[in-house]
Amino acid sequence: MKPLKTLVALGLAGALLSTPALAQREGVNVGQNSVFTGLVSAEQMEATALQQYRQVLREAAQQNALAPANNPQLQRLRAIAERIIPHAIDWNPRAKDWKWEVNLIGSKQVNAWCMPGGKIAFYTGILNQLKLSDDEVAAVMGHEIAHALREHARERAGKNAATSLGANVLAQVLGVGAIGQQVIGGGAQLLSLSFSRENETEADLVGLELAARAGYDPRAAVTLWQKMNAAAQGAPPQWLSTHPSGNTRIAGIERNLPKVMPLYERAKQGG
Ligand SMILES: [Zn+2]
Repeated sequence: MKPLKTLVALGLAGALLSTPALAQREGVNVGQNSVFTGLVSAEQMEATALQQYRQVLREAAQQNALAPANNPQLQRLRAIAERIIPHAIDWNPRAKDWKWEVNLIGSKQVNAWCMPGGKIAFYTGILNQLKLSDDEVAAVMGHEIAHALREHARERAGKNAATSLGANVLAQVLGVGAIGQQVIGGGAQLLSLSFSRENETEADLVGLELAARAGYDPRAAVTLWQKMNAAAQGAPPQWLSTHPSGNTRIAGIERNLPKVMPLYERAKQGG
C-alpha cells in the first residue's frame, strides 16, 4: 500500500470532478458547432434568411394562404414556440437577440422549417395529415429550431465556400465576410436546404432537449418519426425529402431519451 500516493490520486480525482468545466452537462451532448460556420458571417446569414422569409410570407399572403393572428392552429404553434424559445439561448448566445417569428401557411405540403435568426414556418399539411399532438409539434419545432441554433445553414455555406474557393484562396482572403456574401448571394435557397446526416442527428438530439426543457414529452419524437415513416409509404412528403426517417433515426432518439426524461419530468412539475 502507498497511502500518500493514494491520497494524492484521490485528491486529484476530487479536484477533477469538482471542476465545473469537466462536470457532465445535463442533457444531450453534441459538441461544438462546426469550424466551417466561421467562414460565413452570422449577420449575413440571418439577413439573407430574413429576406427569404419575408418573400415566402408575401407569396403566401398573395394566395390568401397566410394564417391570420386569430387562427387557432397558429395560436397553438405560437404558444408552443413561446415555451421552447427561452431554452434556445443555452445553445447559441445570438438567439437572445433574434426576432423570433412563427407563421402558418395553408398548404398540403408536409413541411416545417426554422431559418437562421429564428424565422419559423409550419404548413397546415404537416399538422393535418400527420394529426400532430402538441408534444409532436414540439418535436418538429425543437428539431427545426435546433438546426438554426447549431447554425447548420451557415456551416453548409461555409463548406461551400471552402470547396468552391479552395484552401489557397481562403488563406489569402482574411475578410471572410466577402466569401460569405458570394456563397449566400449565389442563390442559396435556405428553404430547400438539406443537411448532412450528422446535422440531422444533432438536430434530433438538441430538439429532444429543447422540447423536454419546455415541458413537452420528448418520447413524442418517436411517434412523430413513426408517423413520418407511415406517410412516406404514399407520396413522399416535403419534410421527408430533406429528413430521411427510418429505424436508425428512431433508435438514435430512443437511445438519448434517458438523458432528457429527467428534464421533462422536472419541467412538468415546475408547471
Ligand atoms: Zn432536420
